[in-house]
Amino acid sequence: MKQKKLRTLSHLLLPLMLFSGSANADGPRVVADIAPIHSLVSMVMDGVGQPQLLVPQNISPHHYSMRPSEAEALQEAQLVVYVGHDMSPWLEPVLETLAASASALDLSKVDNIMQLAYREGPIFDGHDEEGHDDHDEEGHDDHDEEGHDDHAHHDHDGVDPHMWLDPMNAKLWLYAIASELTRIDPKNADRYDENARSSSRTITLAMAQAEGHLASGKDNGFLVYHDAYQYFEKRFNRVAVGSISLGDASKPSAKRLSELKALFGAQGISCVLTEPQYSSKIVDSVFGGFKPTIGVVDPIGIDLELGTTLYPQLLENIALSIAQCVNP
Ligand SMILES: [Zn+2]
Repeated sequence: MKQKKLRTLSHLLLPLMLFSGSANADGPRVVADIAPIHSLVSMVMDGVGQPQLLVPQNISPHHYSMRPSEAEALQEAQLVVYVGHDMSPWLEPVLETLAASASALDLSKVDNIMQLAYREGPIFDGHDEEGHDDHDEEGHDDHDEEGHDDHAHHDHDGVDPHMWLDPMNAKLWLYAIASELTRIDPKNADRYDENARSSSRTITLAMAQAEGHLASGKDNGFLVYHDAYQYFEKRFNRVAVGSISLGDASKPSAKRLSELKALFGAQGISCVLTEPQYSSKIVDSVFGGFKPTIGVVDPIGIDLELGTTLYPQLLENIALSIAQCVNP
């Protein structure tokens, strides 16, 4: 699917709105790309101001094109925090045009975060992969940075962009966000630092909750709708058997579906996790005959209240979704 990103620029001729929706006019004007990142930024800005969300919560960032109001938010921004090129290839060119005066924090470039290459086939052979647990950075350095700017979907030779689903990444990002905020708003430096520390502890607690949910379950196999969860799976040691769609949430091919069907029959998978943004029709029609438990898992938090609590809730919810689906 081609993105109409450049065409949206024409909407800039519309009158500009001020940074509406920001509860605290004194805080720095910050925009975050997706809800979980918005939540992390909210945690760090707590008591100072609120960031704006760029991609509406109910829209998959994989199939997103920017609307005029979002372009306006970018124009007013002092800082744009985003999860990286591979999630939002449309964003960087837009940033150069619209937010030329803003600082941009590309979270995929933060030191020491875990980055994983895409998984390819519909079936994950997670067990013979090298251990990624200790922040293995190999396998993406040769990632071609050029040449896919005009692709609306991810480059599948690249890094899997769903990096926020590793809470250890999120913790590192809290400090990166705090230090960017401090740069543009030094008078609140202590506040940002303190918020980053306390939010890191909050995430640690949410991780323990998530582990608790997952520990209660048997190790039954599950299939996910789109390949978004490997960061979560690796961190919590609960690896999906495969995914129906690729990491960019594109439509699966007939070949992919028939491979999955064969796998289903052979491995006795008991659970398929769909997502709120995507129709479960395909699951019913392809796998219905196997009578799996069909659950819903949400990598973005579309039903959660935006803000500081979204991220820790998201972690817990994903763990619960998996646990309840594999142990109905
Ligand atoms: Zn995704």
